[in-house]
Amino acid sequence: MNARLAELSIVIPVYNEEAGLPTLFDRLYPALDKLGRSYEVIFVDDGSRDRSAALLKDQFLQRPDVTRVVVFNANYGQHLAIIAGFERCRGERVVTLDADLQNPPEEIGKLIAAMDAGHDYVGSIRRTRKDTWWRSVASRLMNRVRERITRIKMTDQGCMLRAYSRDIARAIAASREISTFIPALAYTYAHSPTEVEVEHAERAAGESKYSLYKLIRLNFDLITGFSLVPLQLFSMFGMLVSVGALVTYLIVIVSRLLQAGWREGFATLWDRDILAFFLIGMLLFGLGLVGEYVGRIYQQVRERPRYTIRAVLERDAEVTRAL
Ligand code: UDP
Ligand code: MG
Repeated sequence: MNARLAELSIVIPVYNEEAGLPTLFDRLYPALDKLGRSYEVIFVDDGSRDRSAALLKDQFLQRPDVTRVVVFNANYGQHLAIIAGFERCRGERVVTLDADLQNPPEEIGKLIAAMDAGHDYVGSIRRTRKDTWWRSVASRLMNRVRERITRIKMTDQGCMLRAYSRDIARAIAASREISTFIPALAYTYAHSPTEVEVEHAERAAGESKYSLYKLIRLNFDLITGFSLVPLQLFSMFGMLVSVGALVTYLIVIVSRLLQAGWREGFATLWDRDILAFFLIGMLLFGLGLVGEYVGRIYQQVRERPRYTIRAVLERDAEVTRAL
């Protein structure tokens, strides 16, 4: 099989997954063989601190015809790992998959079938989510907010089992933004996106790499990265508050002139304090929101390389350094 021109490229980000990798190999390759299409698997090791890179190397040696490995020098996050895969993929269609077997490799065929039907981007919805309850509640809430303020209609943003046409994958890789969210970005480029239902399992081994903090950051990226609505909402609200404050002051001044009692004056003073607190709160909130955008601009203008690679394992490529 010619690895240069495959029908499918499977891109899998790997971060500290030594416990689950052997099972992944055992299930992934047979599932792909069964599809009866030429394929390549690109593993991107996202700076794992465990033996993941070594396991990937072994797997590369076992199936060099269909396996390629990119090893990052440090941990750059799941999405940049996927981008590194996108930049190198040779397949006509690109499927992303988590390494922890939460997305069953046996479901890839379903995505491909949807692409055969003419869609250029296929997302997936987990039929039964096997996540902790707070993750489910939080993600449902985020979906609502996101669908309101961006044009992205993604039922299940957490599910990374997705298929992209090569053009979309290339467009995503060419988007130079630093904080990115690939499934959402795909919607900006897709001509005919769709979603299919897939099974969802619990993590086969190891633990989730996403803490609550990382999840919150991710959602900030998602919203600020695709919409100016928070910024606009804030300024609208700011204007309303200022007008409200002005009117209140006028009323207070007039009423004080009419009935200038000492007690009354004291009461209005207290009211003004509340008003001030409210305004300060709004100011701080707005400042933080502006900071979210400014922070991104700052990151963007530095134009740092988004990741650095330690080694690439593939046929006809040099191994830059022994793992
Ligand atoms: N991952 C990565 N870099 C990171 C965190 C995660 O490459 O910094 C990979 C991880 O190995 C897995 C996928 O991204 O293949 C999804 O991660 P995880 O299962 O921890 O996320 P969750 O399923 O809990 O959302
Ligand atoms: Mg997972």
